[in-house]
Amino acid sequence: MINRTPQPINTLSIRYGEEKTFGRLNLSSTLPAYSQAKFQSSTHSLVNLAHENQLKLFDPTVQISGLTPDCADKTKACYNDPYDYERVFYENIMINMRNSFNRKSFQSYIENYFADASVCANYSGCVDYKDPALSYATRNMMMMGISGHQMDMFVMRDVYAADGMGGGSLPDIGLHQSEGKGWASYWHAYMDPNSGSYRGYNNMSYLSVFHEIAHGYGFNHSSGMTYGFADSWTNTYLQQHFTQHERENSNAHQVPSVLTKAELLEERKVRLSFYHTQPGASAQDIELQFIHNDGIDIKVDYIEGRDNTSVDVTFGTPPVAPVYVRSVSGNGEYMSTLQFKGSDLIPLPRYTFGGKAYTILDKKLIAPETSGWGIRKLCDQPGQQLATKADYQALWNYMSANNLLGTLSTNKFLSRDEPASWYIWMLEFNAREMASSYYQLGVGIGNDKALVCVAPAN
Ligand SMILES: [Zn+2]
Repeated sequence: MINRTPQPINTLSIRYGEEKTFGRLNLSSTLPAYSQAKFQSSTHSLVNLAHENQLKLFDPTVQISGLTPDCADKTKACYNDPYDYERVFYENIMINMRNSFNRKSFQSYIENYFADASVCANYSGCVDYKDPALSYATRNMMMMGISGHQMDMFVMRDVYAADGMGGGSLPDIGLHQSEGKGWASYWHAYMDPNSGSYRGYNNMSYLSVFHEIAHGYGFNHSSGMTYGFADSWTNTYLQQHFTQHERENSNAHQVPSVLTKAELLEERKVRLSFYHTQPGASAQDIELQFIHNDGIDIKVDYIEGRDNTSVDVTFGTPPVAPVYVRSVSGNGEYMSTLQFKGSDLIPLPRYTFGGKAYTILDKKLIAPETSGWGIRKLCDQPGQQLATKADYQALWNYMSANNLLGTLSTNKFLSRDEPASWYIWMLEFNAREMASSYYQLGVGIGNDKALVCVAPAN
């Protein structure tokens, strides 16, 4: 096992075996940050063992070196890479941010914060927010909680410009992960134990770094997430939920109180089964929560006679924007978060050959007006990309050789690659050959064409 994270690991949520059974792996000794270990079990098969990560919120892709210029001009503020001790400083704060975002108590904390009318009134972002389906607080939590936002962590040096600086794009929670990025920085002397201005892990540091990272997620000063919530989180939530030792050190990796397994039973119907990671926990009292900005119908049926360890969830329509399902045991704190997209809720034809998996997207998942740019975002499963002409040719060859062409509900497809400026390919799967022609990038896909998504086979 390779630990590529800044956190030591004592225990890990896992899936293993042919059935991808969920479990909790307790290590006999701590695996330090950025290290690896070989392990064995005398009681369990370790076939197909993998980390089952369900602590999904606040999961940035952090870039911490290699991007910045050197600071040749000493007359102005310069932003460049952290030294090792500065990197550790950022890591420890970001670990505690992540550990906050994945807690049940954090969600109620941010809800209560923005629900206070006298607080909301200070921030035009809050006052002007009008979506009845999703509270302002939860929307902000999901924006900053979104996966894949690229965060560059810099250090401000040479000339003091402010305690910190940051900026970035606001993530779109209608997408399955962030397509944007941001950056944040803190004044070097505050992290330097040899400086007279050293702050270490005090509240000023926590609130500044949270504030700048919130800028990195596109939040401005009128959102209440920088001035406002950053201060409240630091001065109250952090003090109540983290010990001084936890605030000043790299905390061990956490495991959610339940792991949630999803199984597609039929179109739009999913069975959720719960695995309690805490021995002796009651199966009776799982809290389930659905977060979405779609206004879609979701019906939950508790299954009798199965110890309430499963529920069936039926979606009225395949969601356009992702739906997040959060679960926590009654006495638990860390929540499991799963994300459902339309493509998770419809059984889709899938063919695996030549080291790649080809999935044919159902037309129900594609709005007819979606242009050549928009269709690239619809391949939303891990590792997937919209097929190129060469991918379509490989699929046609495979389907032709295996007499599968007759199973297609449409025989026209659009590509990702652009044979000429402003054009993509339209491919037509005919009985004798695949035909191709130019298709304008800006034109909607219409009702008669579909898409194929390609990912490495696993
Ligand atoms: Zn600011």
